[in-house]
Amino acid sequence: MLKLAPGSVIGMLGGGQLGRMLAMAAAQLGYHTHVYCPDDRNPAEQVTDRISRKEYDDEEALIAFARSVDVVTYEFENIPVATVELMRKYVPVFPSARVLQVSQDRLYEKQFLNDIGIGTAPYAGVATESEARAALRDIGYPAVLKTRRFGYDGKGQAMVRRAEDLAEAWASLKSDAVIVEGFISFDMEISVLAARGQDGEIKCFDPAENIHKNHVLDLSIAPARIEPELRQQAVGIASQIVAELNYVGVLAVEFFVSATDPLFRVNEIAPRVHNSGHWSIEACPTSQFEQHIRAVCGLPLGDTTLYARAEMKNLIGDEIRDMELYLKDPDANVHHYGKMQVRPGRKMGHVTRLFPHSR
Ligand code: AMP
Repeated sequence: MLKLAPGSVIGMLGGGQLGRMLAMAAAQLGYHTHVYCPDDRNPAEQVTDRISRKEYDDEEALIAFARSVDVVTYEFENIPVATVELMRKYVPVFPSARVLQVSQDRLYEKQFLNDIGIGTAPYAGVATESEARAALRDIGYPAVLKTRRFGYDGKGQAMVRRAEDLAEAWASLKSDAVIVEGFISFDMEISVLAARGQDGEIKCFDPAENIHKNHVLDLSIAPARIEPELRQQAVGIASQIVAELNYVGVLAVEFFVSATDPLFRVNEIAPRVHNSGHWSIEACPTSQFEQHIRAVCGLPLGDTTLYARAEMKNLIGDEIRDMELYLKDPDANVHHYGKMQVRPGRKMGHVTRLFPHSR
């Protein structure tokens, strides 16, 4: 087991807002961070000790980075697996390359989940429009086509309501590595943030209820308004996933919940801290960010009990202009990610409110 003392350096691949909040949590516990990120303006750079602005395939820079840190972790999952393989020759990397392989590809992800007995939407991997047509005969309509890799926030997806929609949907994806997924008419989307330490200890946060706007998370409400049995089931599945993967760190599991569907279905997993867990900064003794830092540094995991019901609202694009209104609200905890350029759909910050008296 790798146990790092405060003063050690945590290397982080990726410098977005998740990296920013991880670096802040690391500093709280006395650790330094060195961020590795190709872009030139990164939310994490305001709060990290060091930054390497290099590409993910720059071997020389990756090796120098790996040699300068005591452990490596990441804040987004589209890091090339080869980058992680290279770095782990020099320094421990959490989570592992295997976890990346599973979560970067929607087909492998669903196969992994089904292999360990966890339900998903019905799916088929396809490479051509005619294979997709054949798969749709089994799966039925409506269905969703998704690129196997690099999809997020509804990108790389197309709905197919009827057979006539297929040609246009297929052309829009511009990919030959696709899955066809049955459409689940869910009542609610929830997520569970699960953490596993290097010693195998597992702790989960309460399931959160997630509401999307234009395919982007708008609101997260914790705890999700579901029955205790469902809550237990969701936490059990998330725990099973981190155990099966020998995972170290925080991982998010997204579920579809439907009163009429006997199966509890996982939509996807993300091997990192997650937007739907930001409320944990104010609502729990240990935030998802601190929990991740604890896990990768070999520290005991912290308590995840909710102090109070919490609601997190993302500030997307122009919504950041309401920041002053939120600052006047005594219950609002305002987070600005330090991004200077406002763009439609861009996550600029978030606001969390706690409701201690309305449980
Ligand atoms: P994803 O990128 O797979 O998380 O999908 C983004 C959003 O699209 C999800 O949060 C759902 O709201 C919706 N969605 C994705 N897949 C399905 C599906 N099979 N059935 C119903 N809705 C879906």
